[in-house]
Amino acid sequence: MDLIQEVLGIVSKRNPNEPEFLQAVTEVLESIAPAVQRRKDYRDAKILERIVEPERMIQFRVPWIDDAGQVQVNRGYRVQMNSAIGPYKGGLRFHPTVNASILKFLAFEQVFKNSLTTLPMGGGKGGADFDPKGKSDNEVMRFCQSFMTELFRHVGPNTDVPAGDIGVGGREIGYLFGQYKRLANEFTGVLTGKSLNWGGSLIRPQATGYGAVYFAEEMLKTRRENLEGRICTVSGSGNAAQYTVSKLNQVGAKVLTMSDSNGFIYDKDGITDEKLSWIMDLKNVRRRRIKEYADHFGATYMDGQRPWSVPCECAFPCATQNEISGADAKTLLDNGCYVVSEAANMPTAPAAVDLFLAAKVLYGPGKAANAGGVAVSGLEMSQNSMRLPWPRDEVDQRLRQIMTTIHKNASNTAAEYDQPGNLVIGANIAGFVKVADAMLDQGVV
Ligand code: NDP
Repeated sequence: MDLIQEVLGIVSKRNPNEPEFLQAVTEVLESIAPAVQRRKDYRDAKILERIVEPERMIQFRVPWIDDAGQVQVNRGYRVQMNSAIGPYKGGLRFHPTVNASILKFLAFEQVFKNSLTTLPMGGGKGGADFDPKGKSDNEVMRFCQSFMTELFRHVGPNTDVPAGDIGVGGREIGYLFGQYKRLANEFTGVLTGKSLNWGGSLIRPQATGYGAVYFAEEMLKTRRENLEGRICTVSGSGNAAQYTVSKLNQVGAKVLTMSDSNGFIYDKDGITDEKLSWIMDLKNVRRRRIKEYADHFGATYMDGQRPWSVPCECAFPCATQNEISGADAKTLLDNGCYVVSEAANMPTAPAAVDLFLAAKVLYGPGKAANAGGVAVSGLEMSQNSMRLPWPRDEVDQRLRQIMTTIHKNASNTAAEYDQPGNLVIGANIAGFVKVADAMLDQGVV
């Protein structure tokens, strides 16, 4: 469709040197072309031209003082992408690779993901090129306080509600919340992923991983199968990975691998709950490298590699963008992998997505499969507004229900557009139509 290429041309001209943003926009626009073709009103209202442009983007200096008394300067951002269906919502990423391109791709994806959850949330994302690795708690606190000293004027419980992402877990959310409360002089649900005793929701830490497993179960149900006894590979060893492994163990699957940015561990006996607890302590408390697992449990460690060469039936990428290349996808398929559920955002490079779709494996794209995290963030917002926490079972049941609904919605939409089983097209169109209709209703804003 000419319009799609025209808009992609505008995006690439207006955002030079932003490959990740262009990758995400290309994937979404090309897959929603049939929906745009059907709707002249979308074309007349220039929905595509508007949806690819952030409503607002803030970039700011984050100065802080390290433990040696030296002044450090980082760059902070918040991308407020789309608020057609609710306040901006999306995580903060602290990682040295953070830049405008990465945050814009994440914010863009978030718009459609949040729409799919059925909850009233717009899309945003933010972060900084700060590396929490190797920093003391006090350094992380001073950084977070400086970051929030600028961010607080742009966010609020009805405006923009950030959460965690890579490098931003419970510790960082605590420091960010403390500074917001001090500056704004109010105790509100301005962030999600909070601790339980000051406004957090049960199941929020588990939600992304659990959700990715629930989504895999929904995909498998279409073949009257389940995860029991399945051999799985998982990448990453952070929040998303830890609770993916935990839920996979609960449903009787066997997980052989986990990783960090240095390499992966392969445990032929499976990463049991007991071993996972050890990893949680290693990563969340001692903050050390995954390699130590191999030394401690006598497993194999592969330096500088990703886990996709290990034969498996189901793969759960839980680390970062573009972590499955075309060659990795081929290896996975050759080894018999037929389920891919993305807990990470855009972990599969375009060439690899094409291979998965052509092979007709059960492929759950991130914006559907990892929407459990933001969905429970949405539930945390509801509980904060009501000032009433829900019990664990209630949140978990709602999460499961939301993942089932997302799968059904993406699957039905794919069938409606003559692409049965193609959840990339299904999720993108289903997420897009709701946002586009809201934009139409609200006029040219
Ligand atoms: P964490 O910071 O808790 O963990 C990230 C993990 O990925 C770590 O093991 C990290 O290794 C590894 N990793 C990070 N960057 C790279 C890289 N460039 N190459 C290889 N490994 C890398 O983050 P999360 O678990 O929260 O996030 C993981 C993914 O899940 C991200 O794509 C995120 O956007 C996505 N996601 C997270 C949600 C959430 O609720 N947390 C919600 C939805 C999606 P190391 O320790 O060496 O850096």
